[in-house]
Amino acid sequence: MSYLFPNYGRWPIRITKGEGNYLWDEAGNRYLDLVSGIAVTSLGNVPHRVKVKVQEQLNTLWHCSNLFEIPIQEKLAEKLVSLTCGDRAFFCNSGAEANEAAIKLARRYAQKIKKQDRYEVITFEQSFHGRTLATLTATGQAKVKDGFAPLPDGFMTVPYNDAAALRAAITDKTCAVMLELVQGEGGVNPASPAFVEQVQALCAEHDLLLIVDEVQTGIGRTGKWFAYQHYNIEPDIITMAKGLGSGFPIGAIVGKEKLAEAFGPGTHGTTFGGNPLACSSGLATLETMEEEGYLARVAEMGAYFMAKLEQLSAVRPEIVGVRGKGLMLGVELAFEVADVIAKMRERGILLLQAGPNVLRLLPPFTVETEEIDRAIAALDDVLNTVTHTV
Ligand code: PMP
Repeated sequence: MSYLFPNYGRWPIRITKGEGNYLWDEAGNRYLDLVSGIAVTSLGNVPHRVKVKVQEQLNTLWHCSNLFEIPIQEKLAEKLVSLTCGDRAFFCNSGAEANEAAIKLARRYAQKIKKQDRYEVITFEQSFHGRTLATLTATGQAKVKDGFAPLPDGFMTVPYNDAAALRAAITDKTCAVMLELVQGEGGVNPASPAFVEQVQALCAEHDLLLIVDEVQTGIGRTGKWFAYQHYNIEPDIITMAKGLGSGFPIGAIVGKEKLAEAFGPGTHGTTFGGNPLACSSGLATLETMEEEGYLARVAEMGAYFMAKLEQLSAVRPEIVGVRGKGLMLGVELAFEVADVIAKMRERGILLLQAGPNVLRLLPPFTVETEEIDRAIAALDDVLNTVTHTV
C-alpha cells in the first residue's frame, strides 16, 4: 500500500542514495544511471562545486519574494543571456512552467504590443512540452491528453520535419511556433537542418515568434549550450529546466528584448521562481560546465557512445537504428523495449524508454568510456536473452 497517487509507472526499486554516475537502492545495490534522472543530474549526483555554492547560499538567503531585486537572479540571468541569443530571463520551477510562460508571452506580445488578434501556437507531432493544461495541449502525443478534456483553444499540431505542412497550417491567428530540436520523449528524433532553417524562414515571413523547447536538449546535453546553436537560427524564446539546476528544481525562459514590454509588472509570475537556492545551483552548474570544459566532453563522449552503438547495431539485427546528438541518444529496436530496459536494470544499468521501440540514453556528462563499454556489453548480452521476432 502506498500513500502516493499511482501516476508514475514506478520501477520496483527504492532509491536512497546518489553519488557520481550511480544510484543505490535500499538493499545496497548499485545502478549506473545512464539517464541522469532524465537529463537533470548532468554533472553527476551531486557535483561538489554546485553543492558548495548551494550550501553557501543556504547560509545567507534561502528565499526572498520577487517584491525585491535579488542579485543571484540577476547573475544567473546575465549568464544565460551571455550563452544565448536572448536578452531577458524569467525564472520558474519546471519545464512545463517555462513553456507555459513562453506561450503566455507569445500571446501577450501579439495582442498587447503588436495589437494583433492572434493566439494560436503551432507545435509538432510526437513533441512533448509538459503536463499542465496548456502544455499538454501543445504536446503532439494523444496519450498525454487522454481524459483531460476540455483542453484550451489555440493549439495546432503538424508533422515534424515537414516544412510544407507547417506552411499550410499557418493562419492569420498564428502567433508562434514551438519546436524541440531533438524530440526527447517522442523517440530521440533530431530535426533536420533544412527543416529548422525553413521553420525560422516561415516565422520571419509570417511574423511569428519561434520558441525552442530546450527543456531536455539545453544546458549542454547535445554538445552545445543549446541545441539551436547547431543550426543557423536565432529563436525569439528559449525554454529550459532539467539540467539547469543539476537536480535543484528550476525552469527558465530567455527571450529577445522586443518581448520585455509584454511581460510588464503584474502580468506573470510565480512565488518560487528565481528562488536563491535554485539560482545558485543554476549559476554553479553553468560555471562548472564552462570552467571544466564539459561541452567538449559531451561531444567527445557522445561520439564515443554513438560509435559503440553503431558497432553493436552492425552485428545485431534487433537494432533498427541509432540516432541522437551529443549525450542524447536513441536506439530503435525491432520490438518493444520494456523487457530490455527491465533486464538492463537487473544488470545494474538504468535506461529509459521513448516511444514503444526506442531505448533512450541521457548519460551524465561525467560518464567514463569504461562505463559506456560496460553498458554496450550488457545490452549485447540482454539482446540475446529477450524473446522477440525480428
Ligand atoms: N519539454 C520537454 C522537451 C521535456 O522533455 C519535458 C520533460 N520531459 C518538459 C517539457 C516538461 O518538463 P517538466 O517535467 O519539468 O515540467
